[in-house]
Amino acid sequence: MKAHSNSSEVAVFVRIRPTAHFATDLIECLPDEQTVNIYHRKASKKGQRSSWSFRLEGILQNVSQEEVYAKVCRRVVLGALDGYNGTVMCFGQTGAGKTYTMTGSTESYKQRGIIPRALQEVFQEVEKRTEHAYSLHLSYLEIYNETLVDLLSSLRGSPRLSPRDMVVMEEPGRGVFIRGLSLHPVHCEEEALNLLFEGEMNRIIGCHTLNRNSSRSHCIFTVHIESRSRTLSDAKYITSKLNLVDLAGSERLGKTGSEGQMLKEAVYINKSLSFLEQAILALGDRRRDHVPFRQTKLTHVLKDSLGGNCNTVLVANIYGEAVQIKETLSTLRFASRMKCVRINPAVNEHQDPALQVKKLQKEVQRLKEELSIFNTMVNRPGITYEQLSEAQLAEIHSQVQRYLDGSLKEISVVSISQVHAVFAQFKLAVHEQEQKLKAQLCQTHSAVEREQSANIVPVKEPETRSSPEELEPAQTPKNTQRPSSTKAKTKKPKEKQSHNKRQGEGSPVSKKRLESASKSKLNSVQTPEREQESQEADTESHDTQDSQPAVSEPFQSDSPPPKAESFEEFKMGPGSHINCILKENKAMLLERRNLLRQITEQVNAVKREIDCTTATIQQQKYMRGGQGQYFSMEGELDATLLLQLRQLKAHYRQRYMVLRDIKAEVNYCQHLVDQCRMRLLSEFEIWYKKSFLLPEEELNVNLDQSLEQEEESQQCLEPLQFELLTDDPSAESFCNARYRTQKRRNSKVLSFTPVRRNTSAGPGQRRLPSILPGT
Ligand code: ADP
Ligand code: MG
Repeated sequence: MKAHSNSSEVAVFVRIRPTAHFATDLIECLPDEQTVNIYHRKASKKGQRSSWSFRLEGILQNVSQEEVYAKVCRRVVLGALDGYNGTVMCFGQTGAGKTYTMTGSTESYKQRGIIPRALQEVFQEVEKRTEHAYSLHLSYLEIYNETLVDLLSSLRGSPRLSPRDMVVMEEPGRGVFIRGLSLHPVHCEEEALNLLFEGEMNRIIGCHTLNRNSSRSHCIFTVHIESRSRTLSDAKYITSKLNLVDLAGSERLGKTGSEGQMLKEAVYINKSLSFLEQAILALGDRRRDHVPFRQTKLTHVLKDSLGGNCNTVLVANIYGEAVQIKETLSTLRFASRMKCVRINPAVNEHQDPALQVKKLQKEVQRLKEELSIFNTMVNRPGITYEQLSEAQLAEIHSQVQRYLDGSLKEISVVSISQVHAVFAQFKLAVHEQEQKLKAQLCQTHSAVEREQSANIVPVKEPETRSSPEELEPAQTPKNTQRPSSTKAKTKKPKEKQSHNKRQGEGSPVSKKRLESASKSKLNSVQTPEREQESQEADTESHDTQDSQPAVSEPFQSDSPPPKAESFEEFKMGPGSHINCILKENKAMLLERRNLLRQITEQVNAVKREIDCTTATIQQQKYMRGGQGQYFSMEGELDATLLLQLRQLKAHYRQRYMVLRDIKAEVNYCQHLVDQCRMRLLSEFEIWYKKSFLLPEEELNVNLDQSLEQEEESQQCLEPLQFELLTDDPSAESFCNARYRTQKRRNSKVLSFTPVRRNTSAGPGQRRLPSILPGT
């Protein structure tokens, strides 16, 4: 709501009904046409005369209807068309001329009152104000004995509501309104007058049929105005209400000796008018922040039409005969109180949400167009800012895949939504990789388990040949209670654990014993590469079995071979291929790193030259500035330097591009090395487990460390790489998965004792993993 610049008082006029018996000795209108003095001799104090002086906006005596409209209403009507609420209200005793002032004679055009004149002016103005589109509606409300009556409900299209359905409502942004009161659109003066007359007729019919006096009801004729600018495509629009109020007669209750229905009416009228007076007193008192508007229908309906942001005008109608002097005095007192009410008119501005959306859409479109022009200018055509299509998303997916496998060097940033989509694809790729690794790990472990359990069956063979009794003499005291093989297979986990523990606690086995154990006839689990070797070894052991029988050896396992040692063996044997690739990759990485170092040095050297040349140029400029003159020699020198600087910059750019490419290659090689290392380690783990069948927890030897040490000793790669290995998210998942699998496996340790057969050192001899029933 836009406040008017200055607040003012409610304008109050006094209109005197012409009469042949005007009490000139009691009522004096001063020539200023603003002051009226009342001289009244009180009955109780004979001869004592009291006087009152009322200074108002204007005294309208013997003034035409035309002049009354011009003085009282025109300003309010024009204000309403500008968006200010306006109220013109007639107050006074019955017969004082309120209806005459407000509606006037319906028969005589000349004597028409404020309402028809206001309607005429509204339509004339609407015609004139072509830059605005107006929408006008009319309503005509009557309040009789605290009941709301719609005087235009008889019209076609109006909902026929009972008075009880009409309720005074208040809504933020909309103000006070009456639910159920019909609003009639009007497009011309005639249409509006038809409605006025229709309402007047209903008012008279009501008076006859319901036996009521028109002066006993309050009537509010309202013009509802809405205007939108035709020139500005604005979401703003303005609303206002022009209330033209004809109040019920304000005569005193006892004067007419009312009784029955008349008395009831008089009580209601008095009540509503006295509450109106209270509301006006509260409005006029700046110390009061509460105004009792809701006490009667009248004040509630007029809540936003009295004072406040509304242009309010009161016409106090008086009947200037001596016999009415008390009523006249009472009316003038009311008028002077009304004068104290301050108003602060403001335009009722609103925002149309639908238009606002349209406006913003337009703005978005315009900005998109500007962006597209900008993109064309910076040579980035074809960028759209719409949601990415399926095809575009598929392309981004493919780009990310190519980027990850190294076939695409970089993904150019095109738009924010594209960047978001790329990130989403990366997230997806990481997730997929994680799942894949987990699945692989599970598969490998279950394969090892399967192999191990498959190998349990043939284990029976040596047992059938060498029963526990047969074995007994060679057993250590600890192993004397070793159960049979069938029992061993069904051994409970607890027993297995204790067995493992014993095994862990076992004293170091002598070399001789190990050698003997290695020579016993046992089934082996082996890698395919080693099949032949193991067969040889098997044969060998078989050959030696007779001379050194298995029964003579304890079936106690010893600790596994040191991991670092086994790893060396693995790299020479089954892991040689991948180890070879790893070495090649490392060599490549080393070579690229050296190259990167060289290029970096070159780039830095060029940069230093650039800095140096820039400094020289700056110095020269500074010196020239100090001398305040130019020398041709210096000018030449400057040009040479500038040319040199330009060349250096071009060189720098070129070397920088090379540097960037080499960097990418280093990263790629690093990635290959990491991958190879991972593979070597995981394959070794599997091989080690398969070869020595050790419980999982004992396998947690830090192989990474040994590899690291080896690599460091080779001084090929910086320690950073090894940090990267654990920083790598996929490695983390791998480690976690491995750890979990190990835990799971530990809880169900197999019921056999891993035994390592050892041979005396020799190039063709290998340690062969063996399986025997646990002790
Ligand atoms: P109210 O509505 O206040 O009860 P009315 O407007 O009905 O009073 O006026 C009562 C009578 O006086 C009507 O016949 C009306 O024509 C007449 N009358 C009132 N004021 C004037 C006036 N200023 N000039 C001419 N006649 C008037
Ligand atoms: Mg009247």
